[in-house]
Amino acid sequence: MPSVRVHAPPIRYNLPMNAAQLSALVRDVAGFPTPGIVFKDITPVLADPTALRVAVELIAAPFRDAGVTTVAGIEARGFVLAPPVALTLGAGFVPLRKKGKLPYDTHSEEYQLEYGTDELEVHVDAAGPGDRVLLVDDVIATGGTGAAAIRLLRGLGADLVGMAVLIELAFLDGRQALGDLDFHTVVTYG
Ligand code: AMP
Repeated sequence: MPSVRVHAPPIRYNLPMNAAQLSALVRDVAGFPTPGIVFKDITPVLADPTALRVAVELIAAPFRDAGVTTVAGIEARGFVLAPPVALTLGAGFVPLRKKGKLPYDTHSEEYQLEYGTDELEVHVDAAGPGDRVLLVDDVIATGGTGAAAIRLLRGLGADLVGMAVLIELAFLDGRQALGDLDFHTVVTYG
């Protein structure tokens, strides 16, 4: 039976729900999208007004005083969490998208999937020197997507302050793919 750990960093005000209560709303869907995968479905968290607010606050909490100017979200579920995290940190939002989706000039980075490769892209002017960027996604699994996102953002000359996710699948050891980047998760399964 995999363990569940929650991480509740010190925050400045009382929240109406804690990380353990939040984790109880994450739904396991076995066999999606392929046999053998247990998909962490965060839609029940997003649908609950209290859980949604607490999830955003707990993702952002360690970076409140980090001078974040830009929050970068990874398509697709990172797009749901990154904009409210940006609002709570007083930062802007930039999208990291799958190949061919961004309209303007892009940089791109390839990364490994279980079978084959995929590509992540960013607009060439999404961030640059002087920007302090926080990378946000819903789940870190093997860390391949996060590592590609890090290469893209550093390639723009931006200062990457950290990566924050709602859920870490620690048994896949994704955080080792991030190198020495400051990594924060709200809930850990592993
Ligand atoms: P990875 O590159 O292996 O870290 O995979 C990260 C991406 O795949 C994230 O954007 C997640 O949204 C998604 N992902 C991978 N595994 C799962 C899972 N078990 N449940 C939900 N999302 C997952």
